[in-house]
Amino acid sequence: MTKSICIIGAGIGGLTAGAYLAKAGYDVTVLEKATTVGGSAGWYIRKGRMFPTGATIAFGLEENGVLRKIVNELQIELPVNDMLHPMDVILPSGKVSIYKSKESWEKELKLAFPDRSGDVIKFWDELNQLSQDVLGVTESEVSLPIRRLYDLGTLPKFLVKHPDAALRLARFARWTVRDLLKRHNLDSYEPLIHFLDAQLIDAVQTDVSEAALLPSCVALSIYRKGSFTFENGMGQLSKALSDKIVEHGGRVLLKSPVQKVNYDPIQKKWGIESKKCSSLFDIVINNSGISFGPKTSYTDDGEFSWGAFRLDAIVSDEIKKELPKDSSLPFAYQIVPSSSQSTLLNRAHGPVYVTFHNAKGKNGEPINNEVAMTISVHTDLSLWNAYSKEEYKLAKEQLVGEILNEVEHVIPVKEKLKYFEAGSPLTYEKFIGKSGVGGFPLTVKNAIRKPRGVRSKLPQFYIVGEHVFPGPGTLSSCLSGYYAARTIVKEYS
Ligand SMILES: Cc1cc2nc3c(=O)[nH]c(=O)nc-3n(C[C@H](O)[C@H](O)[C@H](O)COP(=O)(O)OP(=O)(O)OC[C@H]3O[C@@H](n4cnc5c(N)ncnc54)[C@H](O)[C@@H]3O)c2cc1C
Repeated sequence: MTKSICIIGAGIGGLTAGAYLAKAGYDVTVLEKATTVGGSAGWYIRKGRMFPTGATIAFGLEENGVLRKIVNELQIELPVNDMLHPMDVILPSGKVSIYKSKESWEKELKLAFPDRSGDVIKFWDELNQLSQDVLGVTESEVSLPIRRLYDLGTLPKFLVKHPDAALRLARFARWTVRDLLKRHNLDSYEPLIHFLDAQLIDAVQTDVSEAALLPSCVALSIYRKGSFTFENGMGQLSKALSDKIVEHGGRVLLKSPVQKVNYDPIQKKWGIESKKCSSLFDIVINNSGISFGPKTSYTDDGEFSWGAFRLDAIVSDEIKKELPKDSSLPFAYQIVPSSSQSTLLNRAHGPVYVTFHNAKGKNGEPINNEVAMTISVHTDLSLWNAYSKEEYKLAKEQLVGEILNEVEHVIPVKEKLKYFEAGSPLTYEKFIGKSGVGGFPLTVKNAIRKPRGVRSKLPQFYIVGEHVFPGPGTLSSCLSGYYAARTIVKEYS
């Protein structure tokens, strides 16, 4: 008999699992709290304009890329733009432009780090080599931790074919990024450390001193391997995955937060209660990042998560004149705050991430004379939970002011602002149920020694999304969804 599967949360990980399982003939029901699909890779509408809820840049969509393979297998066809100059990183000591072409990138490294450029280029060559090795392993579809033979994917073949890569991966498995810097005598070279920290805090949620080297190599080289955008943002991919589930006979119920999850050991089924659906299911996949009782999620095991503070705005399209000549929209700035911005440094952590996008109406239609601007910073959740109502309002106002000042040093946005609205971790909690976003920091423990897999300790219960191997980000969340679907197909067919 067809197995019924309930997916809690229509984040990109849950939707990927759902699309594979619906295609494989399972009876899939997705229950989503919000009014749109996608979670942190979705969209929302304000003032008749479309804003991304989080993710803006997709990775792995190059030919033979990991996400490309997933969308091809699911027969999703979406045009993408490949960005040749996706971002400028603004450091206290200067600017580093991220270029896709190797030649421009090496030129940039020489310009940005003139006093140590030889060592920096050697460091980058080694980092690129390790990134290739890790991507080779990722392409082999290995899912950690390994519990069954099929979790290995084609890893044994890859290792036999590439013995040098196998040796390097074993050797560097427990290294941090700082260890590799040390090997190149760069561990006290501040300009490079500022640059790496800015990129790492956004991608792996921690800095050079703690970030596990192997996944960090991918995170640091991936912008140049291929940064892609969809015409109407990352939500377009989430929507396409959701449509696939429906096309294969499944259902996606919005505005239907799950409230209760109970296992009946006699019937061997899960009872799920949500606003629009209360039913028994053979199998549950939790993509919400929310706990519904012991062992139902990884978020209650005490690991630290960051929150995000957001500022979404519409600015006049005059801003385009201020952007680099060789860039196109969307274009991002990653700004490392100057140490004089004490309020910003008190309430925020890491770089200020600003993206300028083509402005879109609520149905994705282009809006002339406007550009959408989204800004996000990492922030400590405990701050926002402790504020009284008045303190919260004041903290939001102050942080918005500090963030705009910081951005203004790089690009004059203030006089071009037409509309803006700020959101804190509590806003995320209100709309997508969780205040901590971006998964767990990819330390050596979280990434290598004790990765969290898609199987939970509960019967017929799986977990997917940014808290699960291989880690944070849309590409990794999609992969965890694929691994959960593969596991379920192997175990229950
Ligand atoms: C500001 C920001 C910028 C980012 N930028 C990028 C980027 O450019 N590129 C990139 O690759 N990644 C980026 N990321 C990270 C990426 O967006 C996430 O890692 C990824 O989208 C998480 O996917 P997920 O599968 O874990 O699901 P989530 O996005 O966490 O979705 C979980 C879903 O569960 C739902 N839910 C919660 N509670 C319930 C309940 N009780 N019942 C039913 N449903 C529930 C939520 O509403 C939500 O839809 C960014 C993240 C943020 C916050």
